[in-house]
Amino acid sequence: MPRASRPSFELGGTKVDPGSRQEVSLAAGSYLTHEELSLRIMVVHGRKPGPVLLLTACIHGDEYNGTEIVRRVLRLPALRRLAGTLLAVPVVNRPGFVTRSRYMPDRRDLNRLFPGSATGPLGSRLARVLSEELVPRCDVAIDLHTGAVNRPNLPQIRITEGDDEALELAKVFAPPVILSAPRREGSYRNTCHTLGKPVLLFESGEAMRLDAPSIRFGVQGILSVMRHLGMLPASRRGKSKGKPVISRRSYWERAPRGGIFTPLAPLGRAVTEGSVLGFIADPHGSAETEVVCSRSGLVIGRTTDATADEGDGLFHIALTSQLDSAEDRIARTTEALPVIDADGDDHPVACDSIRDTVV
Ligand SMILES: [Zn+2]
Repeated sequence: MPRASRPSFELGGTKVDPGSRQEVSLAAGSYLTHEELSLRIMVVHGRKPGPVLLLTACIHGDEYNGTEIVRRVLRLPALRRLAGTLLAVPVVNRPGFVTRSRYMPDRRDLNRLFPGSATGPLGSRLARVLSEELVPRCDVAIDLHTGAVNRPNLPQIRITEGDDEALELAKVFAPPVILSAPRREGSYRNTCHTLGKPVLLFESGEAMRLDAPSIRFGVQGILSVMRHLGMLPASRRGKSKGKPVISRRSYWERAPRGGIFTPLAPLGRAVTEGSVLGFIADPHGSAETEVVCSRSGLVIGRTTDATADEGDGLFHIALTSQLDSAEDRIARTTEALPVIDADGDDHPVACDSIRDTVV
């Protein structure tokens, strides 16, 4: 008996045949120039049936690591053996991307406009297209972010507290840290959660920069999740041996006063209560004020600004019961990455967030 052929994937009136890929544009609204604003989605439809994975990047228009991660995933030869469907949006916030800005042209944060509306401002319309036309079609979503400008993050996955499915997938992704973060009203993650879709939010590196370790963790993590979901054949290397540090709470250690800031704790450092994380100097005098760690934890983000005002966030610290083994765990997740020689890496590395050294 002949096997029934797998149906095409239909999106926005376009049919993508099994074993092929096609870009689909979904109209969201129009710019003040009367040009169309659309969401551009690469649909890779596998020959074999399987789950639908939705990758999104650049909801904040200046967070480029995610766009580069999506670009590299789409170039992988392994996609020829894809089971299921990959929906990839390399740049969600295209107006922000063009202007090198985190925000929409009206200065709104797109990641506070979800689920969006068909009659709201441009960002809200973009959010609606994603919420209504893509998220309901997927089984799992991975959303790629970075820290803000001069606020690099250690590679980490953020999930919603109590979402066991997302936690399992986050462990498969195997970043250095998994952080349960409260849901934020208006965020893409909140909308995915409300629609019952497990969502992994990957945060790594900083805005405006490409960071090689962040990109490697992202590509490798997505591949691991796709293998776990049966979308790609299992790796000959076996499963990642990385055991991420799990954290359910984090806080910002803030500047006790303003001045010139010298950090002493790098990303990935396990720091203990009472230890000195850096100091703030009076630019006109000799006074130096120590920045003392108020609660033991792991440095998962920090500022690289040379100056701080009183109260500015300096170190983002994750609280964890695994502090004793945290640095070792991070080292192991890093070792689990494939070794890429200099010739195989076609981008300069502005900063290495894994091997960041004490200033
Ligand atoms: Zn972001």
